Amino acid sequence: MSRFWSTLVHELTPYVPGEQPKLANLIKLNTNENPYGPSPKALEAMRAEIGDNLRLYPDPNADRLKTALAKINGVSANQVFVGNGSDEVLAHVFLALLKHDRPILFPDITYSFYPVYCGLYGVAHQTVPLTDTFEIDVADYARPNGGIIFPNPNAPTGRPLPLDAIEHLLIAHPDSVVVVDEAYVDFGCASAVTLIDRHPNLLVVQTLSKSRSLAGLRVGFALGHASLIEALERVKNSFNSYPLDRLAIVGAVAAIEDQAWFEQTRQAVIKSRGWLIGEMERLGFQVLPSAANFIFVRHPDRNAGELAQALRTRGIIVRHFRQPRIEQFLRITVGADAQCQSLAAALQEILA
Ligand SMILES: *Cc1c(COP(=O)(O)O)cnc(C)c1O
Repeated sequence: MSRFWSTLVHELTPYVPGEQPKLANLIKLNTNENPYGPSPKALEAMRAEIGDNLRLYPDPNADRLKTALAKINGVSANQVFVGNGSDEVLAHVFLALLKHDRPILFPDITYSFYPVYCGLYGVAHQTVPLTDTFEIDVADYARPNGGIIFPNPNAPTGRPLPLDAIEHLLIAHPDSVVVVDEAYVDFGCASAVTLIDRHPNLLVVQTLSKSRSLAGLRVGFALGHASLIEALERVKNSFNSYPLDRLAIVGAVAAIEDQAWFEQTRQAVIKSRGWLIGEMERLGFQVLPSAANFIFVRHPDRNAGELAQALRTRGIIVRHFRQPRIEQFLRITVGADAQCQSLAAALQEILA
């Protein structure tokens, strides 16, 4: 019944998330979920919240969560914005801070939701090619723009950008907001949060989906100068007053406060990543340096799409992007050790 659709809907190209298969027993290494599960304290806090209180709306400002996030990040509560996953936070960022006359800039190979938001909100954009080694070179961004956004580490490459390069961008573009999407920062990359005080044009976006293992809870946040946060609040309060429900607020607070669980699980992922990279290289793969909870690999003489299919028939799902420059790469989430071992064994068999 598409005659009822708006013109905008006719023209949208929606994001396609990684598959969430209904089959049990699959080894799911395609959407960068954390294999270790959320903090037991977060689960306990959510169980305790289930009760008669659910008839009441949650705190529209999620003040307890903003306070907890402000504390661990060394900023004040009015420098924190929270949303229903960082995807929602990013959506508000595009409308509130990146929609200007000039096109925004982001890498040609990056999080594929960025061009989708541009389509939804009518934000002009230009892509800036990564270097031949799939790195961001900030010198390539030296042109007029309405804003700059990139993940750090970048996705799906996993390559990190050092803080001095980010600071260079912030100084070179004082009239643009520079958005650093730090979805994977806790797996081995320096956070730009430390630059917020010096740079009113910096917005850092993070999520509890990856390093806090709460992809199912949908909690993301942004940190930046209070006036950037105010812009996001204006959009949020024109869209949905209650993006975080009661369970999400208490679960996220407990997860943020459980520093011991966070350290233990992220160190385990980092350790497994080292082992997996060694195995992949032993099997003849080229592996890009990774500061994330996934690796980006190619085999010099095997087709990536065929490898992904062969893994699938063995019950292992990885992500393959049919996209220029990276069609011969696979993005593989670092799973638990047993999953990494199954992957290596399956690839050994496929390559034999
Ligand atoms: C996973 C991811 C997100 C989205 O995370 P949610 O908080 O689960 O919405 C944002 N940016 C990048 C680069 C990601 O990989």
